[in-house]
Amino acid sequence: MTPEFNLIHKYFTLPTLHTILGVGDDAAIISVNNGMELAISTDMLVAGTHFFSDTDAFNLGWKSLAVNISDMAAMGANPKWATLAIALPEINAPWLAEFSKGFFACADAFNVDLIGGDTTRGPLTISVQIMGEVPIGQAIKRTDAMVNDDIWVSGNLGSAALGLAHLQGKVALSGDALQASIHALHSPMPRADLGLALRGVANSCIDISDGLLADLGHILKASNVGAILSLEAIPCLDLLSEHLNEPAFQQAILAGGDDYELCFTAPKTSREAIMQIGQQLNLTLSLIGEICVETRLTVHYKNTILNLEKKGFDHFD
Ligand code: ADP
Ligand code: MG
Repeated sequence: MTPEFNLIHKYFTLPTLHTILGVGDDAAIISVNNGMELAISTDMLVAGTHFFSDTDAFNLGWKSLAVNISDMAAMGANPKWATLAIALPEINAPWLAEFSKGFFACADAFNVDLIGGDTTRGPLTISVQIMGEVPIGQAIKRTDAMVNDDIWVSGNLGSAALGLAHLQGKVALSGDALQASIHALHSPMPRADLGLALRGVANSCIDISDGLLADLGHILKASNVGAILSLEAIPCLDLLSEHLNEPAFQQAILAGGDDYELCFTAPKTSREAIMQIGQQLNLTLSLIGEICVETRLTVHYKNTILNLEKKGFDHFD
């Protein structure tokens, strides 16, 4: 066996759950269930751009799949198959073993099969493609937010941004806040179950990878509507809410990336159904605003309107 084949066999080949032909041939074979469509998405992580080169390999393995599963959740698709294209500067066995453990821990947690990929030498780059099933016509798109829809988010926002600020030496965290924010940054938990539960309930949905304003902005643009948000209604760590009047903390909540929570819109008549979904999933779902006709994004705080541009929120369209 060639070293490359050895490596693929050793680190990237595990039994599959719902795959006809997985790793080992020129292509993988899958079969999509009757009445289902295939949702497909790719995310690439480049060392130095998307993560620090010395990031823990297990966490990187987890995150590289988790961010893709998050895209499936945002579509209301059930993630089932992934491919992994990886460029490695060198063959570092302990690193590969940890990376593979993290990747498969996430695959196992969400019942995703790794069915193929590519392995090559080069600057550390990880590209994952994911495929999932969604009943025909039921994908939750960015284009269908309706005027007067409620705007909801899952979980807490700003935690990952706070963790990153700590690693960059911009803030000094300790105790629970440090643990929670570093965990949010390195081990995001994609909201796969929530995405499935929102089929037929949400009009539009997106996962928050680039920050709430930027990502909600994509929905607004695609649906040709605007939004009014209340900063106080956005759920966040205690440490963030205690400093809500400080621009840096507002920035973390409104523009901080990497949280991988879902932001979705739904008719007001769905409020009870959504609260129930939150209870069933043991996941906080918070009503943070409303879709409006004017194609503007306005954030209220303490009965005033935040001047987002002045505060450096310059790319949320
Ligand atoms: P080919 O030369 O035909 O492209 P490769 O040697 O690149 O084949 O890959 C052999 C098999 O291993 C293929 O099934 C491919 O999908 C799979 N594979 C390669 N790299 C990875 C990886 N990093 N993770 C999972 N499967 C991989
Ligand atoms: Mg190949």
